[in-house]
Amino acid sequence: MIPPQFDYTRAGSAEEAIAALTQHGDEAKLLAGGHSLIPLLKLRLAQPSVLIDIGRVKDLSYVRTEGDEVAIGALTRHRDLERSDLLAGEVPLLAEAARHVGDPQVRNRGTIGGSLSHGDGASDLPAVVLALGGTLVAQGPGGRREIAAGDFFEGFLETALAPDELLVEVRVPKAPGGWSFQKFNRRAQDWAIVGVAAATVGDSVGVGLVNMASVPVRATAVEDALASGSSAEDAAALAAEGTEAPSDIHGSSEYRQHLARVLVARALGELA
Ligand SMILES: Cc1cc2nc3c(=O)[nH]c(=O)nc-3n(C[C@H](O)[C@H](O)[C@H](O)COP(=O)(O)OP(=O)(O)OC[C@H]3O[C@@H](n4cnc5c(N)ncnc54)[C@H](O)[C@@H]3O)c2cc1C
Repeated sequence: MIPPQFDYTRAGSAEEAIAALTQHGDEAKLLAGGHSLIPLLKLRLAQPSVLIDIGRVKDLSYVRTEGDEVAIGALTRHRDLERSDLLAGEVPLLAEAARHVGDPQVRNRGTIGGSLSHGDGASDLPAVVLALGGTLVAQGPGGRREIAAGDFFEGFLETALAPDELLVEVRVPKAPGGWSFQKFNRRAQDWAIVGVAAATVGDSVGVGLVNMASVPVRATAVEDALASGSSAEDAAALAAEGTEAPSDIHGSSEYRQHLARVLVARALGELA
């Protein structure tokens, strides 16, 4: 399928991208790796008249330590997350999850900022950032603001970003201890039928779910049960509480709920 016609402009910096967003308003879309946006255009689910290409804003591609956190530029590609020695040592959950995104072609183009801004409940990295209790940094004409990952995903493909804002950075706490990423799919490069990201952060355990709702969600019932002293087995039994697992050709909602309980039990077993 061929995307609808659009004008193309390339931004050389975050500021240029924000100026272009301000100029074109709702008519414009940012283009990072294009691996979610271009399919949407082809399906006519988005029809922007202007694409603002931010793919070459080099200074938004980095992984660096900042105190107790690791800061990741929004244009860092999945492949760079996968290969980062810093992440492997300090936030291994994120490096491992990146390794499971699509295939090498997808990982060489797709960016963490694009994955989070797209806000798809079936994507892997949002669940990781939720489990870690990360922070997203947005930049708009008025400057920068921070958004907790738990407040970022608002609806189906909807986030807390304003139309004139760019996601510039993702911050996650260092969590080198217990972690687990469980992705259940039929073939290695497929999207998850269900996935689970779990990490010990400080004294608590965070659990994010993949493809258990139309938005990326945490397994809050599991987290609360663990915090109040439940066993991993009892907590995992609550994995589907509060979720709205979709039904599609890959599995029914009930099947996904079952998978979530099984995968959360496996993940918590790996944390121990
Ligand atoms: C064949 C295939 C298989 C895939 N498999 C998986 C998988 O298994 N797991 C998985 O998690 N993902 C998968 N993906 C999605 C992939 O990870 C995408 O790369 C990612 O979701 C989007 O990143 P992107 O940089 O390509 O964003 P784009 O497609 O360029 O943009 C996506 C959306 O985010 C917006 N956006 C992008 N960057 C920013 C920013 N910095 N600030 C504000 N808005 C921004 C865009 O305007 C657009 O609305 C797959 C994709 C394909 C094509």
